[in-house]
Amino acid sequence: MNKKTRTTIKQNHPAPLPVNQGQVCEVEILDLTYEGHGVGRVEGFTLFVSGALPGELARVRVTELKKQYGHAKLEEVLRTSGERVAPLCPVYGRCGGCQLQHLSYEGQLRWKRQLVIDNLQRIGKLDVRGSSSASDAGSHGVIVHPVIGMEDPWRYRNKAVVPIGEREGGLIAGFYEPGSRRIVDMDSCLIQDPQNDELIRQVKQIAGELGIPAYDHATHRGLLRHVVVRVGVQSRELMLVLVTNGRKLPKADELVDRIREAVRVSQPEYALKSICQNVNTKRTSVIFGEETQVLWGSETIEDRIGEVRFAISARSFYQVNPVQTKVLYDKALEYTALTGEETVIDAYCGIGTISLFLAQRAKKVYGVEIVPEAVEDARRNAQLNGVTNTEFAVGRAEDLLPRWRKAGIAADVIVVDPPRKGCDRSLLETIIEMKPKRVVYVSCNPATLARDLRILEDGGFRTVEVQPVDMFPHSGHVECLILMVSEE
Ligand code: SAH
Repeated sequence: MNKKTRTTIKQNHPAPLPVNQGQVCEVEILDLTYEGHGVGRVEGFTLFVSGALPGELARVRVTELKKQYGHAKLEEVLRTSGERVAPLCPVYGRCGGCQLQHLSYEGQLRWKRQLVIDNLQRIGKLDVRGSSSASDAGSHGVIVHPVIGMEDPWRYRNKAVVPIGEREGGLIAGFYEPGSRRIVDMDSCLIQDPQNDELIRQVKQIAGELGIPAYDHATHRGLLRHVVVRVGVQSRELMLVLVTNGRKLPKADELVDRIREAVRVSQPEYALKSICQNVNTKRTSVIFGEETQVLWGSETIEDRIGEVRFAISARSFYQVNPVQTKVLYDKALEYTALTGEETVIDAYCGIGTISLFLAQRAKKVYGVEIVPEAVEDARRNAQLNGVTNTEFAVGRAEDLLPRWRKAGIAADVIVVDPPRKGCDRSLLETIIEMKPKRVVYVSCNPATLARDLRILEDGGFRTVEVQPVDMFPHSGHVECLILMVSEE
Protein backbone atom coordinates (compact mmCIF):
# COMPACT_ATOMS: atom_id res chain seq x y z
CA MET A 1 0.00 0.00 0.00
CA ASN A 2 1.57 3.38 -0.90
CA LYS A 3 1.66 6.37 1.36
CA LYS A 4 -1.09 8.27 -0.43
CA THR A 5 -3.65 5.49 -0.07
CA ARG A 6 -2.81 5.06 3.54
CA THR A 7 -3.46 8.76 4.23
CA THR A 8 -6.78 8.64 2.39
CA ILE A 9 -7.95 5.65 4.36
CA LYS A 10 -6.99 7.29 7.59
CA GLN A 11 -8.88 10.49 6.76
CA ASN A 12 -12.02 8.62 5.81
CA HIS A 13 -11.95 6.25 8.72
CA PRO A 14 -15.26 6.48 10.60
CA ALA A 15 -15.43 7.38 14.27
CA PRO A 16 -14.86 4.33 16.47
CA LEU A 17 -18.03 2.49 17.49
CA PRO A 18 -19.10 2.89 21.13
CA VAL A 19 -19.11 -0.92 21.60
CA ASN A 20 -16.77 -3.74 20.59
CA GLN A 21 -17.47 -7.25 19.38
CA GLY A 22 -17.95 -9.52 22.39
CA GLN A 23 -18.35 -6.63 24.82
CA VAL A 24 -20.87 -6.98 27.62
CA CYS A 25 -22.88 -3.85 28.34
CA GLU A 26 -26.10 -2.64 29.92
CA VAL A 27 -28.71 -1.25 27.60
CA GLU A 28 -32.18 0.30 27.93
CA ILE A 29 -34.63 -1.24 25.49
CA LEU A 30 -36.73 1.42 23.80
CA ASP A 31 -38.59 -0.29 21.00
CA LEU A 32 -39.44 -3.61 19.34
CA THR A 33 -39.04 -4.61 15.68
CA TYR A 34 -41.59 -6.77 13.88
CA GLU A 35 -39.06 -9.62 14.02
CA GLY A 36 -39.38 -9.42 17.82
CA HIS A 37 -35.98 -7.85 18.45
CA GLY A 38 -35.73 -5.32 21.25
CA VAL A 39 -34.11 -2.08 20.11
CA GLY A 40 -31.61 -0.49 22.49
CA ARG A 41 -29.15 2.40 22.17
CA VAL A 42 -25.62 2.73 23.51
CA GLU A 43 -24.39 6.31 23.06
CA GLY A 44 -26.73 6.70 20.12
CA PHE A 45 -25.64 3.42 18.50
CA THR A 46 -28.47 0.93 17.86
CA LEU A 47 -28.26 -2.61 19.21
CA PHE A 48 -30.90 -5.23 18.35
CA VAL A 49 -31.44 -7.64 21.22
CA SER A 50 -33.52 -10.72 20.51
CA GLY A 51 -35.83 -11.56 23.42
CA ALA A 52 -35.66 -8.14 25.15
CA LEU A 53 -38.75 -5.96 25.55
CA PRO A 54 -39.33 -2.20 25.55
CA GLY A 55 -38.98 -0.72 29.03
CA GLU A 56 -36.45 -3.34 30.08
CA LEU A 57 -32.89 -2.82 31.22
CA ALA A 58 -30.76 -5.67 29.93
CA ARG A 59 -27.23 -6.94 30.18
CA VAL A 60 -26.25 -8.01 26.67
CA ARG A 61 -23.22 -9.35 24.83
CA VAL A 62 -22.42 -7.80 21.43
CA THR A 63 -22.36 -10.56 18.81
CA GLU A 64 -22.26 -8.74 15.48
CA LEU A 65 -21.28 -5.23 14.46
CA LYS A 66 -22.23 -3.33 11.33
CA LYS A 67 -21.49 0.33 10.54
CA GLN A 68 -24.87 1.65 11.63
CA TYR A 69 -26.08 -0.96 14.09
CA GLY A 70 -25.23 -4.19 15.86
CA HIS A 71 -26.79 -7.36 17.26
CA ALA A 72 -26.43 -8.48 20.85
CA LYS A 73 -27.41 -11.56 22.83
CA LEU A 74 -29.55 -11.13 25.90
CA GLU A 75 -27.54 -12.28 28.94
CA GLU A 76 -29.80 -11.09 31.74
CA VAL A 77 -32.86 -8.92 32.18
CA LEU A 78 -31.95 -6.47 34.95
CA ARG A 79 -35.33 -4.71 35.01
CA THR A 80 -38.29 -6.67 33.69
CA SER A 81 -41.18 -5.27 31.67
CA GLY A 82 -44.60 -5.71 33.24
CA GLU A 83 -45.69 -7.17 29.88
CA ARG A 84 -43.17 -10.04 29.91
CA VAL A 85 -44.73 -13.52 30.18
CA ALA A 86 -43.29 -17.04 30.14
CA PRO A 87 -43.58 -18.44 26.59
CA LEU A 88 -45.80 -21.53 26.40
CA CYS A 89 -43.97 -23.32 23.62
CA PRO A 90 -41.00 -25.51 24.63
CA VAL A 91 -39.02 -24.64 21.47
CA TYR A 92 -39.80 -20.91 21.55
CA GLY A 93 -36.67 -18.88 20.83
CA ARG A 94 -35.01 -21.80 19.04
CA CYS A 95 -37.71 -22.13 16.39
CA GLY A 96 -38.11 -19.14 14.07
CA GLY A 97 -41.91 -19.54 13.76
CA CYS A 98 -43.10 -17.15 16.51
CA GLN A 99 -41.47 -13.89 17.61
CA LEU A 100 -43.64 -12.50 20.40
CA GLN A 101 -44.57 -15.29 22.82
CA HIS A 102 -42.56 -13.57 25.59
CA LEU A 103 -44.85 -10.52 25.33
CA SER A 104 -48.34 -10.73 26.89
CA TYR A 105 -51.15 -10.97 24.33
CA GLU A 106 -52.54 -7.55 25.37
CA GLY A 107 -49.00 -6.19 24.99
CA GLN A 108 -48.77 -7.68 21.48
CA LEU A 109 -52.02 -6.01 20.45
CA ARG A 110 -50.94 -2.62 21.81
CA TRP A 111 -47.56 -2.93 20.12
CA LYS A 112 -49.12 -3.88 16.77
CA ARG A 113 -51.37 -0.83 16.84
CA GLN A 114 -48.41 1.41 17.63
CA LEU A 115 -46.41 -0.14 14.77
CA VAL A 116 -49.25 0.75 12.37
CA ILE A 117 -49.43 4.32 13.72
CA ASP A 118 -45.64 4.76 13.46
CA ASN A 119 -45.62 3.61 9.83
CA LEU A 120 -48.58 5.76 8.85
CA GLN A 121 -46.92 8.81 10.38
CA ARG A 122 -43.32 8.19 9.34
CA ILE A 123 -43.76 6.74 5.84
CA GLY A 124 -47.30 7.80 4.98
CA LYS A 125 -46.96 11.30 6.47
CA LEU A 126 -50.52 10.91 7.72
CA ASP A 127 -52.07 12.78 10.56
CA VAL A 128 -53.21 10.09 13.00
CA ARG A 129 -55.91 10.82 15.52
CA GLY A 130 -55.73 7.53 17.37
CA SER A 131 -59.31 7.66 18.59
CA SER A 132 -61.18 4.42 19.02
CA SER A 133 -64.55 5.90 18.16
CA ALA A 134 -65.82 5.61 14.61
CA SER A 135 -68.58 8.15 15.11
CA ASP A 136 -66.33 11.16 14.47
CA ALA A 137 -64.84 9.71 11.29
CA GLY A 138 -65.83 12.82 9.36
CA SER A 139 -63.37 15.22 11.00
CA HIS A 140 -59.65 15.48 10.28
CA GLY A 141 -57.01 12.91 11.07
CA VAL A 142 -57.01 9.16 10.50
CA ILE A 143 -58.55 6.99 13.19
CA VAL A 144 -56.49 3.94 14.05
CA HIS A 145 -58.69 1.62 16.07
CA PRO A 146 -57.38 -0.78 18.71
CA VAL A 147 -56.39 -4.12 17.18
CA ILE A 148 -59.18 -6.71 17.18
CA GLY A 149 -57.52 -9.68 18.89
CA MET A 150 -58.57 -13.29 19.39
CA GLU A 151 -60.36 -14.57 22.45
CA ASP A 152 -58.14 -17.65 22.37
CA PRO A 153 -54.95 -16.79 20.47
CA TRP A 154 -53.64 -20.38 20.17
CA ARG A 155 -54.06 -23.24 17.68
CA TYR A 156 -55.48 -20.81 15.12
CA ARG A 157 -53.62 -21.74 11.90
CA ASN A 158 -55.44 -23.87 9.33
CA LYS A 159 -52.34 -24.38 7.18
CA ALA A 160 -48.81 -25.57 7.90
CA VAL A 161 -45.88 -25.49 5.50
CA VAL A 162 -43.19 -27.60 7.09
CA PRO A 163 -39.66 -28.22 5.83
CA ILE A 164 -38.48 -31.82 6.00
CA GLY A 165 -35.01 -32.96 6.97
CA GLU A 166 -33.18 -36.10 8.04
CA ARG A 167 -31.50 -37.09 11.25
CA GLU A 168 -29.97 -40.49 12.00
CA GLY A 169 -31.81 -42.13 9.18
CA GLY A 170 -35.28 -40.85 10.17
CA LEU A 171 -37.21 -37.83 8.93
CA ILE A 172 -37.63 -34.67 10.93
CA ALA A 173 -40.22 -31.93 10.36
CA GLY A 174 -40.36 -28.49 11.88
CA PHE A 175 -39.63 -24.86 11.28
CA TYR A 176 -36.19 -23.35 10.74
CA GLU A 177 -34.08 -21.79 13.44
CA PRO A 178 -34.09 -18.00 13.02
CA GLY A 179 -31.89 -16.96 10.09
CA SER A 180 -30.82 -20.51 9.21
CA ARG A 181 -31.79 -23.67 7.34
CA ARG A 182 -31.51 -25.85 10.46
CA ILE A 183 -34.82 -27.53 11.22
CA VAL A 184 -36.11 -27.65 14.78
CA ASP A 185 -37.87 -31.02 14.87
CA MET A 186 -41.25 -30.84 16.58
CA ASP A 187 -44.39 -32.87 17.04
CA SER A 188 -46.69 -30.08 18.10
CA CYS A 189 -46.94 -26.40 17.27
CA LEU A 190 -49.07 -24.30 19.60
CA ILE A 191 -50.33 -21.92 16.92
CA GLN A 192 -51.26 -24.77 14.58
CA ASP A 193 -54.59 -26.58 14.39
CA PRO A 194 -54.01 -29.93 16.19
CA GLN A 195 -55.31 -31.81 13.13
CA ASN A 196 -52.44 -30.45 11.07
CA ASP A 197 -49.94 -31.46 13.77
CA GLU A 198 -51.31 -35.00 13.74
CA LEU A 199 -51.23 -35.31 9.93
CA ILE A 200 -47.62 -34.05 9.77
CA ARG A 201 -46.60 -36.54 12.48
CA GLN A 202 -48.12 -39.38 10.45
CA VAL A 203 -46.49 -38.32 7.19
CA LYS A 204 -43.10 -37.95 8.88
CA GLN A 205 -43.37 -41.40 10.39
CA ILE A 206 -44.68 -43.22 7.32
CA ALA A 207 -42.44 -41.53 4.73
CA GLY A 208 -39.48 -42.19 7.03
CA GLU A 209 -40.37 -45.89 7.32
CA LEU A 210 -40.69 -46.17 3.54
CA GLY A 211 -37.21 -44.69 3.17
CA ILE A 212 -38.26 -41.61 1.21
CA PRO A 213 -35.25 -39.30 1.45
CA ALA A 214 -35.54 -35.70 2.59
CA TYR A 215 -34.28 -32.95 0.31
CA ASP A 216 -30.97 -31.35 1.24
CA HIS A 217 -30.60 -27.67 0.30
CA ALA A 218 -26.81 -27.73 0.47
CA THR A 219 -26.36 -30.57 -2.06
CA HIS A 220 -29.68 -30.12 -3.94
CA ARG A 221 -30.15 -33.89 -3.57
CA GLY A 222 -32.91 -35.89 -1.94
CA LEU A 223 -36.63 -35.73 -2.57
CA LEU A 224 -39.10 -34.53 0.05
CA ARG A 225 -38.77 -30.76 0.47
CA HIS A 226 -41.91 -29.66 2.30
CA VAL A 227 -45.09 -31.14 3.68
CA VAL A 228 -48.03 -28.75 3.33
CA VAL A 229 -51.24 -29.53 5.20
CA ARG A 230 -54.52 -27.69 5.29
CA VAL A 231 -57.63 -28.24 7.36
CA GLY A 232 -61.07 -26.86 6.61
CA VAL A 233 -62.02 -25.94 10.15
CA GLN A 234 -65.74 -25.75 9.28
CA SER A 235 -65.86 -28.58 6.75
CA ARG A 236 -63.48 -30.91 8.68
CA GLU A 237 -61.70 -31.78 5.46
CA LEU A 238 -57.94 -32.27 5.20
CA MET A 239 -55.51 -31.76 2.33
CA LEU A 240 -51.93 -32.98 2.11
CA VAL A 241 -49.37 -31.73 -0.41
CA LEU A 242 -45.92 -33.29 -0.72
CA VAL A 243 -43.45 -30.91 -2.36
CA THR A 244 -40.76 -32.97 -4.04
CA ASN A 245 -37.48 -32.32 -5.83
CA GLY A 246 -38.45 -34.43 -8.86
CA ARG A 247 -41.47 -36.11 -10.34
CA LYS A 248 -40.70 -39.68 -9.37
CA LEU A 249 -42.00 -40.55 -5.93
CA PRO A 250 -40.96 -44.09 -4.91
CA LYS A 251 -43.61 -46.28 -3.26
CA ALA A 252 -46.22 -43.59 -3.92
CA ASP A 253 -49.15 -46.03 -3.75
CA GLU A 254 -48.05 -47.52 -0.47
CA LEU A 255 -47.40 -44.06 0.95
CA VAL A 256 -50.89 -42.89 0.00
CA ASP A 257 -52.59 -46.03 1.35
CA ARG A 258 -50.78 -45.92 4.66
CA ILE A 259 -51.41 -42.20 5.19
CA ARG A 260 -55.13 -42.62 4.41
CA GLU A 261 -55.37 -45.49 6.85
CA ALA A 262 -53.48 -43.58 9.56
CA VAL A 263 -55.82 -40.58 9.24
CA ARG A 264 -58.88 -42.84 9.32
CA VAL A 265 -57.71 -44.31 12.61
CA SER A 266 -56.18 -41.30 14.38
CA GLN A 267 -58.46 -38.50 13.09
CA PRO A 268 -61.84 -40.19 12.78
CA GLU A 269 -63.84 -36.94 12.87
CA TYR A 270 -61.96 -35.53 9.88
CA ALA A 271 -61.85 -36.61 6.25
CA LEU A 272 -58.64 -36.60 4.24
CA LYS A 273 -59.95 -35.49 0.83
CA SER A 274 -56.87 -34.77 -1.20
CA ILE A 275 -53.25 -35.91 -1.44
CA CYS A 276 -51.24 -33.94 -4.00
CA GLN A 277 -47.67 -33.85 -5.16
CA ASN A 278 -46.10 -30.57 -6.19
CA VAL A 279 -42.82 -30.75 -8.09
CA ASN A 280 -40.19 -28.14 -7.32
CA THR A 281 -36.74 -28.91 -8.72
CA LYS A 282 -35.32 -25.40 -8.45
CA ARG A 283 -32.61 -24.25 -6.05
CA THR A 284 -34.90 -21.78 -4.34
CA SER A 285 -36.52 -20.94 -1.04
CA VAL A 286 -39.89 -20.56 -2.85
CA ILE A 287 -42.04 -23.44 -1.60
CA PHE A 288 -44.11 -24.52 -4.60
CA GLY A 289 -43.05 -25.42 -8.12
CA GLU A 290 -45.30 -24.96 -11.14
CA GLU A 291 -46.50 -28.55 -11.47
CA THR A 292 -49.09 -30.12 -9.18
CA GLN A 293 -50.67 -33.54 -9.58
CA VAL A 294 -53.29 -35.33 -7.56
CA LEU A 295 -51.90 -38.55 -6.05
CA TRP A 296 -55.23 -39.49 -4.57
CA GLY A 297 -58.69 -37.94 -4.09
CA SER A 298 -59.84 -34.53 -5.11
CA GLU A 299 -57.97 -31.51 -6.45
CA THR A 300 -59.49 -29.26 -3.79
CA ILE A 301 -60.87 -29.27 -0.29
CA GLU A 302 -63.80 -27.20 0.81
CA ASP A 303 -64.26 -24.75 3.64
CA ARG A 304 -66.74 -22.08 4.69
CA ILE A 305 -66.41 -18.54 5.97
CA GLY A 306 -69.75 -17.41 7.33
CA GLU A 307 -72.29 -18.70 4.81
CA VAL A 308 -69.94 -18.69 1.83
CA ARG A 309 -68.38 -21.98 0.66
CA PHE A 310 -64.91 -22.18 -0.83
CA ALA A 311 -63.03 -24.82 -2.79
CA ILE A 312 -59.30 -24.45 -2.22
CA SER A 313 -56.58 -26.09 -4.32
CA ALA A 314 -52.99 -26.84 -3.33
CA ARG A 315 -51.30 -23.66 -4.49
CA SER A 316 -54.13 -21.18 -3.88
CA PHE A 317 -53.88 -18.53 -1.22
CA TYR A 318 -56.46 -18.89 1.53
CA GLN A 319 -56.35 -16.92 4.78
CA VAL A 320 -54.73 -19.01 7.53
CA ASN A 321 -56.78 -17.81 10.49
CA PRO A 322 -60.43 -18.63 9.83
CA VAL A 323 -61.80 -17.00 13.01
CA GLN A 324 -60.18 -13.66 12.27
CA THR A 325 -60.84 -13.90 8.53
CA LYS A 326 -64.55 -13.66 9.26
CA VAL A 327 -63.89 -10.54 11.36
CA LEU A 328 -61.75 -9.07 8.58
CA TYR A 329 -64.23 -9.76 5.78
CA ASP A 330 -67.21 -8.48 7.79
CA LYS A 331 -65.29 -5.28 8.36
CA ALA A 332 -64.39 -5.09 4.65
CA LEU A 333 -68.08 -5.44 3.82
CA GLU A 334 -68.90 -2.64 6.26
CA TYR A 335 -66.22 -0.33 4.78
CA THR A 336 -67.48 -0.84 1.23
CA ALA A 337 -70.95 0.43 2.34
CA LEU A 338 -72.63 -1.48 -0.50
CA THR A 339 -76.32 -0.99 -1.24
CA GLY A 340 -76.74 -3.47 -4.09
CA GLU A 341 -76.22 -0.96 -6.90
CA GLU A 342 -72.43 -0.81 -7.00
CA THR A 343 -69.78 -2.13 -9.32
CA VAL A 344 -66.80 -3.42 -7.34
CA ILE A 345 -63.28 -4.43 -8.36
CA ASP A 346 -61.46 -6.90 -6.11
CA ALA A 347 -57.78 -6.72 -7.08
CA TYR A 348 -55.55 -9.58 -5.82
CA CYS A 349 -58.69 -11.67 -5.33
CA GLY A 350 -57.13 -15.09 -4.67
CA ILE A 351 -59.86 -17.73 -4.77
CA GLY A 352 -62.51 -15.01 -4.76
CA THR A 353 -63.07 -14.92 -1.02
CA ILE A 354 -63.63 -11.18 -0.66
CA SER A 355 -65.34 -10.97 -4.09
CA LEU A 356 -67.96 -13.53 -3.09
CA PHE A 357 -68.49 -11.91 0.27
CA LEU A 358 -69.13 -8.57 -1.44
CA ALA A 359 -71.17 -10.02 -4.31
CA GLN A 360 -73.99 -10.64 -1.83
CA ARG A 361 -74.50 -6.86 -1.65
CA ALA A 362 -73.17 -5.52 -4.98
CA LYS A 363 -74.51 -5.29 -8.52
CA LYS A 364 -71.32 -6.70 -10.02
CA VAL A 365 -67.88 -7.74 -8.76
CA TYR A 366 -64.80 -8.07 -10.99
CA GLY A 367 -61.88 -10.03 -9.50
CA VAL A 368 -58.32 -10.25 -10.78
CA GLU A 369 -55.61 -12.63 -9.61
CA ILE A 370 -52.22 -13.74 -10.94
CA VAL A 371 -52.33 -17.49 -10.05
CA PRO A 372 -54.42 -19.36 -12.69
CA GLU A 373 -55.48 -22.18 -10.31
CA ALA A 374 -56.77 -19.60 -7.83
CA VAL A 375 -58.92 -18.02 -10.57
CA GLU A 376 -60.28 -21.45 -11.47
CA ASP A 377 -61.12 -21.91 -7.78
CA ALA A 378 -62.77 -18.47 -7.74
CA ARG A 379 -65.03 -19.37 -10.70
CA ARG A 380 -65.84 -22.72 -9.15
CA ASN A 381 -66.62 -20.97 -5.86
CA ALA A 382 -69.03 -18.58 -7.54
CA GLN A 383 -70.90 -21.59 -8.94
CA LEU A 384 -70.74 -23.46 -5.65
CA ASN A 385 -72.54 -20.56 -4.00
CA GLY A 386 -74.94 -19.86 -6.86
CA VAL A 387 -73.41 -16.42 -7.35
CA THR A 388 -73.89 -15.04 -10.86
CA ASN A 389 -72.74 -11.42 -10.56
CA THR A 390 -68.98 -12.04 -10.44
CA GLU A 391 -66.37 -12.18 -13.19
CA PHE A 392 -62.79 -13.34 -12.62
CA ALA A 393 -59.72 -12.75 -14.75
CA VAL A 394 -56.19 -14.17 -14.64
CA GLY A 395 -53.42 -11.60 -14.79
CA ARG A 396 -51.62 -8.86 -12.99
CA ALA A 397 -53.91 -6.32 -11.38
CA GLU A 398 -51.73 -3.52 -12.74
CA ASP A 399 -52.32 -4.82 -16.30
CA LEU A 400 -56.01 -5.71 -16.03
CA LEU A 401 -57.38 -2.57 -14.37
CA PRO A 402 -56.21 -0.21 -17.13
CA ARG A 403 -57.83 -2.57 -19.67
CA TRP A 404 -61.10 -2.62 -17.75
CA ARG A 405 -60.99 1.15 -17.51
CA LYS A 406 -60.52 1.45 -21.29
CA ALA A 407 -63.40 -0.97 -21.78
CA GLY A 408 -65.60 1.48 -19.90
CA ILE A 409 -65.93 -0.32 -16.56
CA ALA A 410 -66.51 2.27 -13.84
CA ALA A 411 -65.96 1.01 -10.31
CA ASP A 412 -67.75 2.51 -7.33
CA VAL A 413 -65.53 0.60 -4.92
CA ILE A 414 -62.06 -0.87 -5.42
CA VAL A 415 -60.70 -3.39 -2.94
CA VAL A 416 -56.99 -4.21 -2.96
CA ASP A 417 -55.42 -7.03 -0.94
CA PRO A 418 -51.81 -7.23 -2.18
CA PRO A 419 -48.97 -9.43 -0.93
CA ARG A 420 -46.32 -7.98 1.43
CA LYS A 421 -44.66 -5.85 -1.22
CA GLY A 422 -47.84 -3.79 -1.61
CA CYS A 423 -49.43 -2.45 -4.80
CA ASP A 424 -47.61 -1.72 -8.01
CA ARG A 425 -47.36 2.05 -8.47
CA SER A 426 -49.06 1.89 -11.85
CA LEU A 427 -52.05 0.15 -10.27
CA LEU A 428 -52.40 3.00 -7.77
CA GLU A 429 -52.24 5.48 -10.64
CA THR A 430 -55.02 3.65 -12.46
CA ILE A 431 -57.12 3.69 -9.28
CA ILE A 432 -56.57 7.45 -9.04
CA GLU A 433 -57.73 7.82 -12.65
CA MET A 434 -60.76 5.56 -12.11
CA LYS A 435 -61.79 7.59 -9.06
CA PRO A 436 -64.01 5.11 -7.22
CA LYS A 437 -66.00 6.58 -4.33
CA ARG A 438 -64.25 4.23 -1.92
CA VAL A 439 -61.03 2.28 -1.77
CA VAL A 440 -60.76 -0.51 0.78
CA TYR A 441 -57.16 -1.60 1.30
CA VAL A 442 -56.42 -4.92 3.02
CA SER A 443 -52.77 -4.95 4.04
CA CYS A 444 -50.39 -7.42 5.65
CA ASN A 445 -47.46 -4.99 5.76
CA PRO A 446 -47.83 -1.57 7.43
CA ALA A 447 -44.72 -0.16 5.71
CA THR A 448 -45.83 -0.76 2.11
CA LEU A 449 -49.37 0.17 3.14
CA ALA A 450 -48.20 3.57 4.38
CA ARG A 451 -46.23 4.13 1.15
CA ASP A 452 -49.30 3.28 -0.97
CA LEU A 453 -51.71 5.37 1.11
CA ARG A 454 -49.47 8.41 0.57
CA ILE A 455 -49.70 7.92 -3.21
CA LEU A 456 -53.49 7.59 -3.06
CA GLU A 457 -53.77 10.61 -0.73
CA ASP A 458 -51.75 12.70 -3.17
CA GLY A 459 -54.08 11.47 -5.91
CA GLY A 460 -57.23 12.75 -4.23
CA PHE A 461 -58.25 10.10 -1.67
CA ARG A 462 -58.60 10.63 2.06
CA THR A 463 -57.78 7.93 4.59
CA VAL A 464 -60.69 7.74 7.00
CA GLU A 465 -60.00 4.85 9.33
CA VAL A 466 -57.72 1.92 9.93
CA GLN A 467 -58.81 -1.28 11.64
CA PRO A 468 -55.96 -3.66 12.51
CA VAL A 469 -57.11 -7.28 12.96
CA ASP A 470 -54.78 -9.77 14.62
CA MET A 471 -54.57 -12.62 12.11
CA PHE A 472 -51.21 -13.90 13.39
CA PRO A 473 -50.98 -13.92 17.22
CA HIS A 474 -47.42 -14.38 18.62
CA SER A 475 -45.86 -13.39 15.33
CA GLY A 476 -44.79 -9.89 14.34
CA HIS A 477 -47.23 -9.81 11.43
CA VAL A 478 -49.91 -7.12 11.39
CA GLU A 479 -52.99 -7.14 9.17
CA CYS A 480 -54.99 -3.94 8.61
CA LEU A 481 -58.12 -2.88 6.87
CA ILE A 482 -58.27 0.71 5.60
CA LEU A 483 -61.13 2.81 4.37
CA MET A 484 -60.33 5.61 1.93
CA VAL A 485 -62.86 7.91 0.27
CA SER A 486 -62.57 10.05 -2.82
CA GLU A 487 -62.28 13.73 -1.83
CA GLU A 488 -64.75 14.80 -4.53
N1 SAH B 1 -58.03 -11.44 -1.30
C1 SAH B 1 -57.62 -12.82 -1.20
C2 SAH B 1 -56.14 -13.06 -1.50
C3 SAH B 1 -55.14 -12.11 -0.91
S1 SAH B 1 -53.44 -12.62 -0.95
C4 SAH B 1 -58.00 -13.38 0.16
O1 SAH B 1 -58.31 -12.64 1.09
O2 SAH B 1 -58.02 -14.60 0.30
C5 SAH B 1 -52.78 -11.80 -2.32
C6 SAH B 1 -53.07 -12.45 -3.64
O3 SAH B 1 -52.51 -11.63 -4.65
C7 SAH B 1 -52.47 -13.83 -3.83
O4 SAH B 1 -53.50 -14.71 -4.20
C8 SAH B 1 -51.46 -13.65 -4.98
O5 SAH B 1 -51.38 -14.77 -5.82
C9 SAH B 1 -52.03 -12.46 -5.71
N2 SAH B 1 -51.12 -11.60 -6.50
C10 SAH B 1 -49.82 -11.32 -6.28
N3 SAH B 1 -49.38 -10.41 -7.15
C11 SAH B 1 -50.42 -10.07 -7.95
C12 SAH B 1 -50.60 -9.15 -9.03
N4 SAH B 1 -49.60 -8.39 -9.46
N5 SAH B 1 -51.82 -9.06 -9.60
C13 SAH B 1 -52.85 -9.82 -9.16
N6 SAH B 1 -52.74 -10.70 -8.15
C14 SAH B 1 -51.55 -10.84 -7.54
